[in-house]
Amino acid sequence: MGVMQRFNEPNILTVSSDKLFNWARKNSMWPLQFGLACCAIEMMSTGMAHNDLDRFGAGFFSGSPRQADVMIVSGTVSTKMAERMTRLYEQMPEPKWVIAMGACAISGGPFLDGYSVLMGADRVIPVDVYVPGCPPRPEALIFGIMTLQKKIERESQVGYEKPRPALVTEDGEFL
Ligand code: SF4
Repeated sequence: MGVMQRFNEPNILTVSSDKLFNWARKNSMWPLQFGLACCAIEMMSTGMAHNDLDRFGAGFFSGSPRQADVMIVSGTVSTKMAERMTRLYEQMPEPKWVIAMGACAISGGPFLDGYSVLMGADRVIPVDVYVPGCPPRPEALIFGIMTLQKKIERESQVGYEKPRPALVTEDGEFL
């Protein structure tokens, strides 16, 4: 086993730094300011004083994909919007995560088999957490964010690569 190959294996140095970085990342998530349909109203409500998303370190919604690390797909993804959504996702720096909020973002929801609606955000971008509902209540989104925090806790940046969804080519081209 070569030196570089050995360095890329999890070891005492990388495991410790993973813990530190994951602790910082899970407690300071910056969601992208991005809403697609009715579910977005519940997402906005989650950020307001009553639900206070800031308690979980995720209350700052960034207007720029370059300064965001969580995309909350909150609503119906039309086929025209799917390409824009993919482009926004590509513009977010690594590491980044995606929450599919609501039946539409998970599987097309009430528009099942509709000609103009994507049957789930995970057809074009990798989704980490699914929050069911039509729409999900703010408490459900908060639970989704807490689930994502637990997932981030276990991540390792060594040799980590998310699988590409079926509708995007190796070169990042949208099909
Ligand atoms: Fe609207 Fe329901 Fe779709 Fe959410 S899941 S965007 S509430 S139709």
